[in-house]
Amino acid sequence: MTSYSVVTRGSIIALVGLFIVQGTPIGQRLTRHWSAERASDDILYSEGSPFQSASFKDVDSWLLSSENMTQAPTAETFEHKVKKGTTLASLWRDIKGAPQAVSSFVSAFSHKHPKLKAGEVVSVTRKGDEVVELRRELGQGATLVISGGSGEGYVPRIEQASISTRERKVTGTISSSLVNAANGLDVPYSVIDDFVDLFSARVEFQKDLQPGDSFTVSYDERVIEGGKVLETGSIKSASLFLSGEMYAVVRDVATDGAVRYFDEKGEMPTKAFLRYPVQFTRIGSMFSHARFHPVLKVSRPHHGVDFSAPIGTPVRTVGDGVVVFSGYTPSTGYMVRIAHSSQYTTEYMHLSKISSDAKKGARVSRGSVIGALGNTGLSTGPHLHFGLFDRGTYVDPMKAKVIQVAPVIKAPKAVLAAIAEMRKTHKELALAVSSSVKKRA
Ligand SMILES: [Zn+2]
Repeated sequence: MTSYSVVTRGSIIALVGLFIVQGTPIGQRLTRHWSAERASDDILYSEGSPFQSASFKDVDSWLLSSENMTQAPTAETFEHKVKKGTTLASLWRDIKGAPQAVSSFVSAFSHKHPKLKAGEVVSVTRKGDEVVELRRELGQGATLVISGGSGEGYVPRIEQASISTRERKVTGTISSSLVNAANGLDVPYSVIDDFVDLFSARVEFQKDLQPGDSFTVSYDERVIEGGKVLETGSIKSASLFLSGEMYAVVRDVATDGAVRYFDEKGEMPTKAFLRYPVQFTRIGSMFSHARFHPVLKVSRPHHGVDFSAPIGTPVRTVGDGVVVFSGYTPSTGYMVRIAHSSQYTTEYMHLSKISSDAKKGARVSRGSVIGALGNTGLSTGPHLHFGLFDRGTYVDPMKAKVIQVAPVIKAPKAVLAAIAEMRKTHKELALAVSSSVKKRA
């Protein structure tokens, strides 16, 4: 609903719109008028009233006829959604630009800017019969602004909002799930996924978290003037306080630029496998050991965990390794098998495609994308079948603690200080929770 439609299109909705333009001179006048008339049906439909015909189109034109309209038109801004197949000339028609100014508008707009996309929204300001300004967001805080009029023509300019980086620190208590708690505090999914990956080797996110457990997370975000977040950076520190025990991770960038993570003991933790081959917040449901194979209709051991998620969801290798199989078989569909050491192998099945970095013989590193989730082979719905083998014997990947050894390095002072600060935060949170429990008791 835009105030623009109030003055051009007659509809019952337009009357609701009158209240939207309250506060503008025309709005106040229209509202006053309407309130007076609607006081009684008799008045509304009395002889000579413009409402008599009950055609709202007539009401609009009556309200806007020169006799009843004494004030100059005020500028009104509305959002316009670009339809499929829109050209610059048809956009100009859609926003009711003056026909004689179309070439001026098109040349102002088309100056080396990306093509219009269906569904994108532009902001249009009109004054009377004229479009006086059109604003289109170009991303990264830049806006294309086209302004002018049919007489003088239209000129483009770029407005660049200033962008700054700030650190965001979030502290929360879990009541139902980590994802809900973090989401409620406006932590984006990308940060939640990173958070899960940092702890998943030590924490079973499906089981270990209890109501009352707390977490902290800090990360950088790039913000444009006015507060809109453009992008978020890697996690700088994170902690989980589960049943009285703190797990923490602090990121440290060494003078040579190497990025390292330290745990709550100030040690660099051994590099464990990722717990989830699909980003945690993408997993729709998780079930293991469905022994009855739905396509083969035979009972057989199910050597894997099935993760359901949309087709195309990136699939990641859980550890460093070498691709030993990459291709298609009728039962597994597109599959990648990775050897991580002489001991461990992982398998990823039913992929919709295999990434070009995951050909046979390729070296892959923990977390790198090896393909996309699919529904190929003997599969009844989009899912990833993920298997982990220890010297050829299947082990439950949701329970196994698989580590890849990394050198032990002692944490710098700043890391130790960050760990101490998180410990203090959790103690304070725990105190607050326990005192509120006592009060209730
Ligand atoms: Zn399966």
